[in-house]
Amino acid sequence: MQDQNGTVKVRDSAIPEADLMGMIGLLPAAEHARYLAAREVLQRRIRPASIDYWNREEFPHQMLPGLAALGLGELQVDGSSQLFKGLMYFEVARADVSLSALVGIHNELIVGMIDRLGSPAQRERWLPGLRTFQSLGAFALTEPEHGSDIAGGLATSAELIDGEWVIHGAKRWIGSGTIADFALVWARDKADQQIKGFIVETDRPGYSATKIEHKMGLRIMQNAHIRLDGVRVPADNLLPGAVNFAAANELLRDSRAWVGWQAAGIQFGAFDIARDYALERFQFGRPLAKFQLIQLSLAEILGNASASLALMLQFARMQESGTAQMAQAAMVKATTTRLARESVAQGRALLGGNGVTSDYEMAKLFGDAEILYSYEGTYEINSLIVARAMTGLGAFV
Ligand SMILES: Cc1cc2nc3c(=O)[nH]c(=O)nc-3n(C[C@H](O)[C@H](O)[C@H](O)COP(=O)(O)OP(=O)(O)OC[C@H]3O[C@@H](n4cnc5c(N)ncnc54)[C@H](O)[C@@H]3O)c2cc1C
Repeated sequence: MQDQNGTVKVRDSAIPEADLMGMIGLLPAAEHARYLAAREVLQRRIRPASIDYWNREEFPHQMLPGLAALGLGELQVDGSSQLFKGLMYFEVARADVSLSALVGIHNELIVGMIDRLGSPAQRERWLPGLRTFQSLGAFALTEPEHGSDIAGGLATSAELIDGEWVIHGAKRWIGSGTIADFALVWARDKADQQIKGFIVETDRPGYSATKIEHKMGLRIMQNAHIRLDGVRVPADNLLPGAVNFAAANELLRDSRAWVGWQAAGIQFGAFDIARDYALERFQFGRPLAKFQLIQLSLAEILGNASASLALMLQFARMQESGTAQMAQAAMVKATTTRLARESVAQGRALLGGNGVTSDYEMAKLFGDAEILYSYEGTYEINSLIVARAMTGLGAFV
């Protein structure tokens, strides 16, 4: 909650930490100290400043150096544990979901793809700038006519002509598409019909991006409708490790699960806001927090949030041990985002009328949760992946 000066109030230290189950304490000492330092900055500076940008659908370029100073541009390649990386995504989401989308896509889908599937020259060209957020990439997979069925339906084409790839097509919903230095474009090679990944610099002739406006959530993220009208890139802009869709599968699995950290973070954020509000707002001569129904709501939000975080901790363990599969990624993504939607709806109601204006933050979370529910595979598609794994029967069509 903001006070009259627009400053987010930081919780009274006499009130216990929201992490009732002590899960964050699982971090080793050095990572724990780094985590706490980052949380302080995210809560005190990023969270309050994000509200205005969110209202104006504007990207906060000037926040990038601060995010880089926290190491958020290089989580994927700095040797951090899966748990630390996840908890940083979680804390950024607790402060602002759009920025956590930026940090997550940047690490999981841009830095990760170039680091693992790129050539030495591509790594040398792009990774130093990406690590410090001096460069930004966009991950361009979804198309206007193909969302859930993108793997089979992808229509953007690439053809190797006289040593250059010529790319035709359109992409939709692409995060940072209007501000990135390059887009990682997935296109179908006309020669062998395989889906391949290409680095397309955004200043190339034929690339145009239009911002998608009036979103109900993730309003800081600049999502774009992109046209690729015969864009020509050199032959070596193809990621050598991304010569079919299966090659990107492990990274796509992890990026699916990354949304679960966001969903856990947004719920802890919702709990923080709801608890503060319930303690400070008086009705019938007493704080809302004194009413049983309000206490039930707070307990349910925290229960949902803690269950989501616990699922993510186990997923991180599976990533570390090399046992994580797509079905588990789909389950954590679907379940945590379903719970997030419930939690922010409870939080919204708990704030009464003030729950519908972003001045009191909860409305911002309410809109953001809708995006978590639908991107990186919708709730329904992820549920189908889980149930296919558990029954052996695919029910997509
Ligand atoms: C804010 C935002 C940011 C995004 N960022 C990016 C990005 O950076 N890069 C990128 O590539 N993409 C991005 N996306 C795209 C996102 O991944 C897609 O929106 C998502 O995969 C769903 O595709 P769709 O919107 O085309 O919905 P559709 O596929 O048209 O689905 C519509 C509805 O039908 C349901 N449905 C579809 N098929 C089935 C089926 N077989 N069985 C049951 N139900 C079904 C879906 O669950 C959904 O409810 C973003 C989307 C949003 C909204």
